[in-house]
Amino acid sequence: MSLETNKSDYKLLLIDDDEVDIMTFQRALKSSDLSCKLTVCFDAKEALEKLSTSNFDCIFLDYLLPGIDGLQLLRRLREMSVSTPVAVITSQGDEKIAVEMIKNGAFDYFTKNDINPDKISKVVITAVRLWNAERKRVEAEKKIIENNNRLNAILESTHNLIFAFDRTLNLISFNSAFKESMEHLLRQRDIIKQDINLHAIPIREEMKQSLLRNISKCFLGEQFTVLEQISFSNDPSKITPWYETTFNPIVDINGEVSGVAIYSKDVSENKKIVFDLMQAKNEAVAAAQAKSEFLSNMSHEIRTPMNAIIGLTELLLEEPLEINQLENIKSIKYSADNLLVIINDILDFGKIEAGKVRFENIDFDLPSRIEELRKTFEHRTKEKGLNFLIEFAENVPLTVKGDPYRLNQILFNLVGNAIKFTPSGQVSIAIKAIPGGEQMNLEFSVTDTGIGIPENQQAKIFESFTQANAETTRKYGGTGLGLAITKNLVQLQGGSISVKSKLNEGTSFIVSIPFGIGADEKIEKVAEKSEQKADLSELKILLVEDNIMNQFVAKQFFKKWNNELLIANNGEEAIQILKERADLDLVLMDLQMPEMSGFQAAEIIRGNKTAVLNSNIPIIALSADAFIETRRKVIEAGMDDYVTKPFKPEELYSKIIKHTKQNASL
Ligand code: ADP
Repeated sequence: MSLETNKSDYKLLLIDDDEVDIMTFQRALKSSDLSCKLTVCFDAKEALEKLSTSNFDCIFLDYLLPGIDGLQLLRRLREMSVSTPVAVITSQGDEKIAVEMIKNGAFDYFTKNDINPDKISKVVITAVRLWNAERKRVEAEKKIIENNNRLNAILESTHNLIFAFDRTLNLISFNSAFKESMEHLLRQRDIIKQDINLHAIPIREEMKQSLLRNISKCFLGEQFTVLEQISFSNDPSKITPWYETTFNPIVDINGEVSGVAIYSKDVSENKKIVFDLMQAKNEAVAAAQAKSEFLSNMSHEIRTPMNAIIGLTELLLEEPLEINQLENIKSIKYSADNLLVIINDILDFGKIEAGKVRFENIDFDLPSRIEELRKTFEHRTKEKGLNFLIEFAENVPLTVKGDPYRLNQILFNLVGNAIKFTPSGQVSIAIKAIPGGEQMNLEFSVTDTGIGIPENQQAKIFESFTQANAETTRKYGGTGLGLAITKNLVQLQGGSISVKSKLNEGTSFIVSIPFGIGADEKIEKVAEKSEQKADLSELKILLVEDNIMNQFVAKQFFKKWNNELLIANNGEEAIQILKERADLDLVLMDLQMPEMSGFQAAEIIRGNKTAVLNSNIPIIALSADAFIETRRKVIEAGMDDYVTKPFKPEELYSKIIKHTKQNASL
């Protein structure tokens, strides 16, 4: 049976079987200024039932109850996790019992004689305060547990090692991954517990030192990451894994570093992948280099016999021939010329891939270079019945500064293609300047009315070894290197190249290259074809050349020019001859020769200050190598000029005339 009294804010439970006591309590409560709701239970059983359904702010418990006593009931309440504050009401002289009750969780006690309004109010208020505090503590504890669970889940969500040390280097925290990595070391010692000290961890001494160093550094307050080989094994035969380890200071509420948290990630696999990749890359680079060196050597080797083939064919073409012989020899010449273009492409490509291309920066006469180009293609355009137009915009300066040889090579490729892929109509070169201060861009548009390039192929044709389609190769030949080289040569000079094309209508390649504005007086004049009848009978010329075939070809040309060449087989022989013959007018110097190279020979000749030989004799270098570096080296070695092999007879002739005339006028 329970007895409900007045309604209120505080909910109180009185467990007492003494009617008089209950009435005294109710009276005291009424007279107090508390507003309460009191529930009364007469025995433990009833109280337990009530407590299982209702909450109270404070329980007043009479120690003497029928059945179970107050102490037992108190214990039951604690077992049931009822944490409502309990005040015990005792009889006079029951202090001992009261102390026992307090030990078992009661928060206060008073005797029946003390039941008065004042006492009850005080007890209730204290109980409520206590309980609020307790509730907050429980709440906070719950939060801490939840937080810990969350952090633990994070710690456990990685296979990487996470662990932490305090200032005394005691291990204060770690995840399972760390524990597992240490277990084989620590199991036998049974020391994998929180208070293990870094010094007691049986890892290799140098690892320990490295950890200690980094932990000490971290105590200065900064987070940092190191990449190190760390082994938690003390077995030196095991491969030591690479760890990327982050040291992070733990800061206490005063802002002091109280420990160091360590995150260690095994990056051995990544390391290995990077290492393998690097190795593969190095191998690929070495292979590419070997390839371009091989190509470069091969094409050099091929150029020398080509020199003989082209030279001798040219000579044959000037002989009186029967018509079918003439046709055959023309075919040989045509094939040999083509082959030479291919060889030059391969040689260039190798140099570009090896990053060995250098550019001239000289003043030159632009219109005469373009005119040269027109002459080069005159024959082919006429043969195909194509119009060949050249348009200069008014703003194009006559003299520009840059690399005339590379410009020629670029336009040669584009115009060559334009003619090749145009069955009828016209091919044109339009040139305009886009000014911009000291520098300007020259824009060359090479346009044809040919077969065109399908749109989906337009980007690809600039890749090496790529042609628009397989049929092209069958029908037109070619290596697919021309445009790749052209694009590289344009871009390496800071320029750009683009294509516009429509199938069966034609193609336009637009090249833009920065040039300086040239000074007229510095122009290197293009060798002009000599108008006078070729005759060199007056001159005594020494050819220094180790290749018998090349000697033979040269002799044939010079015979035509009424000149009997003197021959030296290498640099040494040349110097010997020069010492013996003071009457020589000019030296033609091959560059690559056994015993003594052309460069060495030229340096010795120029450096000879004694009067034993004519150290001022004009020297023209002859080489199969068409590169600017070679050109530069030739001039550095003191030679006067340079002719590439296979030489164009008129170019060689006019250079001989130029240098012997100059010499005579000195
Ligand atoms: P190739 O030695 O084969 O001519 P290129 O690199 O010079 O190599 O050209 C690549 C391909 O681009 C050619 O095979 C051809 O299909 C296409 N191409 C280049 N120029 C033209 C052009 N003017 N008209 C049509 N197709 C062209």
